[in-house]
Amino acid sequence: MRAAVLHGKEDVRLENLPEPILAEGQVRVRIRAALTCGTDLKVFRRGYHARMLTPPCVFGHEFAGAVSEVHPSVREWKVGDRVVAANSAPCGTCAPCRRGQAHLCDDLLFLNGAYAQSIVIPARIVTTNLLRIPADLSLVDAALTEPLACVVQGVEDLQLKAGEHLAVMGAGPIGLMATALALHSGVSVTVIGRNQARLDAARRLGAHRVIENAGDGDCPELDRLQPDAVFEAVGKPNTWEQAIRCVRKGGRVNLFGGCPSGATVTLDTTRVHYHALTLLASFHHTPTTIRKAFALIEAGVVRSREFVDGRTPLSALPELFRSMCSGNRFVKTLVDVDL
Ligand SMILES: [Zn+2]
Ligand SMILES: [Zn+2]
Repeated sequence: MRAAVLHGKEDVRLENLPEPILAEGQVRVRIRAALTCGTDLKVFRRGYHARMLTPPCVFGHEFAGAVSEVHPSVREWKVGDRVVAANSAPCGTCAPCRRGQAHLCDDLLFLNGAYAQSIVIPARIVTTNLLRIPADLSLVDAALTEPLACVVQGVEDLQLKAGEHLAVMGAGPIGLMATALALHSGVSVTVIGRNQARLDAARRLGAHRVIENAGDGDCPELDRLQPDAVFEAVGKPNTWEQAIRCVRKGGRVNLFGGCPSGATVTLDTTRVHYHALTLLASFHHTPTTIRKAFALIEAGVVRSREFVDGRTPLSALPELFRSMCSGNRFVKTLVDVDL
């Protein structure tokens, strides 16, 4: 099979790899829709990911396709089933799993290899996080399940009420998905972003206000708005600080965007304490949020046409990631793994 193999920092090569033999509990999926993600861009830039993968290895983690082979031990799936898999599965037995915090599982099993013609789904993901795609749902729509599941968690944690005002900082795929979900629950949304095309995408989703904030500087307009809640989807210390600074008294802030490891922020303790702020940080997904996200996609609340605006053949993936490093602003790109 053809696959994009990550060898190190900004080093991705197209290679022909043998298809591994299936072990007990595994199924093979022929990939029909693979999507780019900000996490993959981080992986490309760094050349590794401490928890998820060690090069040389296939990478990419958002995909959907059809089952092409089933180990004889697997009864629930058959060749031809259209499926989407999450990029991880919890163990179900460690302390965080038993507490109902499967996203914090001590032994989270990650799956990478979406930028390839096929992928082997590990037994644990087959049993906990492989979902059947109905005939009337497109594979590209279904491939949004994993990132949307993270956002479902993030928006739920904010406990938004209809009529409240949410500020979404960042107009990338995560910020735009948070916008769609908040709007769906009757919340009014302001989106702050750097890029006009992405802010246009926020407008099309129905955002009540968009603010263009060029560069990485603070946004005085946001400070004046005093939203009820803030969803930080940038992942930079200064936007974390502004998220905490701009929210109203008694407001909630979800520090959703992951900053570079080791980053620190400065907090005005007076403000956090005397304004009784609620500071949250949501991370990853659980089998429950994976299913909630899939249901939202099935219901048409989140559609790929609003988030997937680029398309590339697998053979051009290295150039695509280089262009993403230097300002390509497609929200998400569909990778055609057969070209
Ligand atoms: Zn992702
Ligand atoms: Zn666990």
